[in-house]
Amino acid sequence: MAAPKVAVVGAGVVGLSTALCIAETCPSGSVTVLSDQFSPDTTSDAAAGILIPHTYPGTPIHVQKQWFKETFTYLFAISNSAEASEAGIHLVSGWQVFKNSPKEELPFWSDIVLGFRLMSKAELQKFPQHQFGQAFTTLKCDCPPYLLWLEKRLKAAGVQIYTRKVADLWELHSEYNVVVNCTGIGARQLVGDEKLFPVRGQVLKVHAPWVKNFIRDGDGLTYIYPGIHRVTLGGTREKDNWSLAPDPGTTKDIFDRCCSLEPSLRGAQDIKVKVGLRPSRQHVRLQREVLSQGGVKLPVIHNYGHGAGGFSVHRGTAKEAARLVGECIAALQGSSSRAKL
Ligand code: FAD
Repeated sequence: MAAPKVAVVGAGVVGLSTALCIAETCPSGSVTVLSDQFSPDTTSDAAAGILIPHTYPGTPIHVQKQWFKETFTYLFAISNSAEASEAGIHLVSGWQVFKNSPKEELPFWSDIVLGFRLMSKAELQKFPQHQFGQAFTTLKCDCPPYLLWLEKRLKAAGVQIYTRKVADLWELHSEYNVVVNCTGIGARQLVGDEKLFPVRGQVLKVHAPWVKNFIRDGDGLTYIYPGIHRVTLGGTREKDNWSLAPDPGTTKDIFDRCCSLEPSLRGAQDIKVKVGLRPSRQHVRLQREVLSQGGVKLPVIHNYGHGAGGFSVHRGTAKEAARLVGECIAALQGSSSRAKL
């Protein structure tokens, strides 16, 4: 058969990284990205982009750990390369602090981040309202630059990129042999997935170049993540709230909470507000499905539902999606050569 045609729907961090993994691992295929929105207008652009995993209750921990490890290893290599600044990837050290000791003092990812250790009493003096803490070094993506870097890599690999809203995956069957669904919260409408729900997040991006260390309250709600150019202050988690409009009361609440963790933020300037809808599910939907109409079949790989942790696991899930695409291509090539016999 001619080069199999693969369409990846979606251009957030999941769609772009999945398209890149497919182009890297399935060189016999031709890859196209179709999306109705691109950076800076995706959920991925609103993210803080820190690599601290969120836990998916419906996915085995060893699988989540593998996804995180692959993502960390991939981004660590970028952070050590000449591409780091353009890709917006850098190492950042800091503290996760708790008002009460957590059930598990060692999270499952503690041996993947760098230099994980419990905080000393002297360090905890910086956080008088907290009694327990973990110190480590992790990676942070500055999200819009990373998305643009991925797009650039895709173009260099010969991937076609088009603006297009897909109303039904079946509409792609006459043009593509395999379709990959990376539509984030859009999958709720596109494939009618009612297990997928939005968790609204509002963050502030501020100018505070003196803040060098990340600080995260162990409840995950209040965080300060320094990026290359701006510091992200968060946040909120509002289940089933579809509003993308910034809320001024929430902005003040986030700012006050962050200042109570890091009082020097009172001097922060140029506060910009971003809102995104985390595409949340009990587990990431990462699986193959075969659509069929009138004897015609269309293999689909779903890769969506990354909730609060898409940046932390994107490369791991992209690799698995690319492996599933490779299996579909091998099956298509096998059946086409059998048909010629
Ligand atoms: P999206 O970025 O939403 O991309 C979906 C793409 O699909 C878009 O391009 C959209 O236009 C396209 N699309 C949808 N429907 C269609 C259709 N019908 N036809 C064509 N195209 C379509 N994660 C972390 O790991 N670390 C963090 O620090 C972090 N912080 C966050 C902070 C906030 C405030 C928020 C909101 C999220 C945060 N996340 C974080 C989570 C992370 O942002 C998401 O898990 C991730 O962005 C999901 O990526 P995605 O590509 O699946 O979705």
